[in-house]
Amino acid sequence: MEKILVSACLLGDNCKYDGGNNLNEFILSLREYYDIIPFCPEVEGGLPTPRSPSEIKNALVVNKEGKDVTRNFLLGAEKAVSLSKLLGIRIAILKENSPSCGVRKIHDGSFQNHLIDGEGFTASALKRIGVKVYSEKDELSFLIPQKKETPTEFVSYKERGKKAENRIKEEKPRRDVMKKKTPYSKKDRFDKGHRDNPKGRKSFGHDKNKKSFPKKGNSRFSRNKREKKY
Ligand code: SF4
Repeated sequence: MEKILVSACLLGDNCKYDGGNNLNEFILSLREYYDIIPFCPEVEGGLPTPRSPSEIKNALVVNKEGKDVTRNFLLGAEKAVSLSKLLGIRIAILKENSPSCGVRKIHDGSFQNHLIDGEGFTASALKRIGVKVYSEKDELSFLIPQKKETPTEFVSYKERGKKAENRIKEEKPRRDVMKKKTPYSKKDRFDKGHRDNPKGRKSFGHDKNKKSFPKKGNSRFSRNKREKKY
């Protein structure tokens, strides 16, 4: 089973800075198809939970109290890279907007809830080693494997013959009923036509008064003519 590295808070782990989580039911349901590896870079980097929120400013990570926590964020990113290499992880799903996990957006460092384009320390480090990094905001339905169509049932010629026989048997009474409904047999229909025709039976397809011409070149007359020539 393929392994996917996922931000632990997206799986319901209370590792968020305020002690909560960001549970995402869809990502959790991927456990059915993948080996999900939960990972929180900030906790792995040695930070406690709950903790003061942090943001990236001038390539450093600073918490709300002004303390530089860059070292913890770098350690968390390093651990994520080591784990991915060790387990052969090629896909990661990380929490958007986080200074560790943000994939496309992060806070601007003003602690005013302003977002800017950028990526968290761990997301950036994983991308550098070739891991495909997605956020929970991306369209992830492609990760659900398509179900294979069940092959059609094999039916031998013998069985097909039997089925056809049964079908004919079923249809036979229906055909008999239809036969009874026809007013005349073939012979009756012919005789009826004969009775209705005043010229009689002989006139069928042949008219005595109609002149017929023999084919050119093959009549008795033309044969005699040829014989006289020689
Ligand atoms: S560091 Fe990542 S996994 Fe940990 S709480 Fe923040 S967003 Fe979630």
